[in-house]
Amino acid sequence: MPRKTKKGNNPFFFFMLDWKEEQEQNGRTFPGGLQDVSRDPLINEAWKNLSKPDKAYYESKAKDSKIEAQGSMGKKTALGESIDEVMAAEKREIEFHQNMLQYIDSVIAIGTQHNNLEKIKFIFIHVNWFYKREMGINKYKFVPAELAVAEFSLENGVENVYHEIINAKIDLGFRRDAIETSMETHKIPIQIPEGQDDFTVMYNKLTEILRANMTGTRFPPLFVAKDLTPAVKSLLEQMAEASKESANDFIVYSLEALFGALRNAAATKVDDVSIPLVVAEHEFGKDAFCSVRNLECDYHKNIDGTSQYCSMAIVKRWGFTICDYCCEYLGMDLIPGIHCPIPLETLPTFNNQDTLDTRLNSLTIKDQCKVVSMTGVSDEHRMKVSGRTYQEEQRRRNECKPLVIIDHSVSNNAVNTSGIPGRPLRPPKSVARALTEMQAENGLFNATDFPPIGGRGIVMKKEPRDAKFPPLGKGKTIR
Ligand SMILES: [Zn+2]
Repeated sequence: MPRKTKKGNNPFFFFMLDWKEEQEQNGRTFPGGLQDVSRDPLINEAWKNLSKPDKAYYESKAKDSKIEAQGSMGKKTALGESIDEVMAAEKREIEFHQNMLQYIDSVIAIGTQHNNLEKIKFIFIHVNWFYKREMGINKYKFVPAELAVAEFSLENGVENVYHEIINAKIDLGFRRDAIETSMETHKIPIQIPEGQDDFTVMYNKLTEILRANMTGTRFPPLFVAKDLTPAVKSLLEQMAEASKESANDFIVYSLEALFGALRNAAATKVDDVSIPLVVAEHEFGKDAFCSVRNLECDYHKNIDGTSQYCSMAIVKRWGFTICDYCCEYLGMDLIPGIHCPIPLETLPTFNNQDTLDTRLNSLTIKDQCKVVSMTGVSDEHRMKVSGRTYQEEQRRRNECKPLVIIDHSVSNNAVNTSGIPGRPLRPPKSVARALTEMQAENGLFNATDFPPIGGRGIVMKKEPRDAKFPPLGKGKTIR
């Protein structure tokens, strides 16, 4: 009999589970659970007649279970993570980083070799979010607000931007976090009806862009600024989950690493001074085109002070930054709107008075943006739900009671006169009694009794002003 007491290394235990399930499907019941099953003569018969591959299957299952049990007994970190797992994750991360640098270097090397570096396309992605929710140790879910995906090449700059304002479901208890983040940054209202709420649509559109840029069997990597990587990965997971696909199909690489490698490759044509990744990250993080306007999406165009947070504006600025550092080395002319921002004075709004007038004249009250309050309620909605109707206002006015004036001064006087004996106030422009007494006492400190002690002594009693400056009309002293 192969039965053993410990389940961890017992193949029969796993066979019992499957056999019980099979018998139950055939209508049998085991009120005593696995104890009843183990006593059943039929199971022993079945176990004896089990084929070799089937037996091997249960043996390997028992072995896996044993390894798992041993693993869970290992040392843990202060956060409760298995040290072995943490070390394995670190190792995977280092490998991933090396693969990334290797991929970027090889792509750029091919471009340099074929003299078409400026034609190579890279995909940028940016995500704005409402809040991040902790889902485990060092695991977060970012609830997205806006997405921008764009193709970039040194030749054509940023093009084919796919952009979405997202109407994501806000988890219970996270509404305030979402509104606060929105008000402080992108100002996209939560659950905006015009927003995209179907993550499958976003998945399909994103994969369509990636497929168009595929060179092998895998999707090309998505490049994102290092700080935003967790948010982008979280959105990709949500999109893949909605589409019942695997998020492992997506590769997310560092945009700063791409920027540094492109800049170094371009610079080698002129001089051979390359910058390390740390410097590239620092330079890229400066966001030199942060103040450039007219790059925003349609939604953010209408809201002041949000252009720096708009996903569409950000991917365009990333393109400008890379071009700014590379095009000159490659001997390329900077074309406004493609490689660098369009100067303000050449924009039609600034040199064409008619256009400006037309735009101003066509402004209507409806154009104002709908900004919600901290409670997430717009003024329009508040007025609709709790504002008074005309009839209610009229009725309220008609029901008004006449004003009742309460004269508190009367009651106060009554208290004063009845309880506390009053003292008449000092007449105006007279000196207080205390002060009069002090002035009288001043006569005691005369110059005879208390002479000044040499040098810069102070005479306590002042000379009358008139003695020094006799009145002589307007200002001038005649001697
Ligand atoms: Zn935007």
